[in-house]
Amino acid sequence: MAANIIDGKAIADRIRQSLKDDIQRLNAKKGIVPGLTVILVGKDPASQVYVRNKERACMEVGIRSKVIYMDQGVSQDDLLQEIYRLNQDKETHGILVQLPLPSHIDEAAVINAIDPRKDVDGFHPITVGKLFVGESGFEPCTPKGIITLIKETGQDISGKHAVIIGRSNIVGKPVSIMLLKENATVTICHSKTSNLKDVASRADILVVAMGQPEFIDDEYIKEGAIVIDVGTSRVDGKLKGDVVFDKVVHKAGWITPVPGGVGPMTITMLLKNTVQAAYQSE
Ligand code: NAP
Repeated sequence: MAANIIDGKAIADRIRQSLKDDIQRLNAKKGIVPGLTVILVGKDPASQVYVRNKERACMEVGIRSKVIYMDQGVSQDDLLQEIYRLNQDKETHGILVQLPLPSHIDEAAVINAIDPRKDVDGFHPITVGKLFVGESGFEPCTPKGIITLIKETGQDISGKHAVIIGRSNIVGKPVSIMLLKENATVTICHSKTSNLKDVASRADILVVAMGQPEFIDDEYIKEGAIVIDVGTSRVDGKLKGDVVFDKVVHKAGWITPVPGGVGPMTITMLLKNTVQAAYQSE
């Protein structure tokens, strides 16, 4: 039997609808309009598209969005000064610096400059530390979207064996911690893992975040597993996941498509974090 498709687009639309209501309530109660300010350095076409998508998504739900464009050659000091200014700006509840930054700028120094109370991307070391020790704070957007999608299956995460392929700071590591918090038994795999197929095919929940297009076929899958495909690679102009969807769909119990799975959830979780920041601002 074919797997149930986890429709990230439909789930994201539903969450955005409920965010609109939250924003209206916040406005009616406290007169606050949530505000997200994005800093974009340079003219990288992919980054420009991401920033435009974020702007559009903000507008649709009623978040005030501002984009600060800076030259490719901007000095690190000027960029940091702008962040310090935004840290004090009452209309900015969330600050996001679009990555990657030009090579003359120290990415860590820039992220560290953001006030953790406005760190809606969830990349500041204080935010990461809170996630690690289980204190409340912002959860990074893609992992938060992944957990939401897994919960949408209606299956209990507690006690399940979750295997994550990938150990990046933005996906693999945080999603592992979040699954642990949900009481899954967690295994993290990476490029040096031996017997990847053996490990993956024992997973009740398999999260694939490798950036290797169509690497994972049905031999890596346990019958009935929940499979979350985070990968997005452009191959001949088409967006491909890390999973061979057409094969895996016949073995998994649930699967996310690419596009239309994790992707739409990431921006939605950014909107959610921005609304959370606005609620916590007073
Ligand atoms: P990344 O930083 O490049 O990390 C990739 C991870 O996969 C690394 O830990 C790497 O292992 C591991 N890996 C690579 N090849 C492997 C192999 N053959 N066997 C086992 N492990 C392997 O990537 P990322 O930033 O986490 O992103 C992963 C994918 O998700 C990319 O396609 C990215 O575009 C996509 N993504 C999508 C969204 C979204 O919103 N849809 C958001 C973020 C990322 P090592 O650590 O040993 O090198």
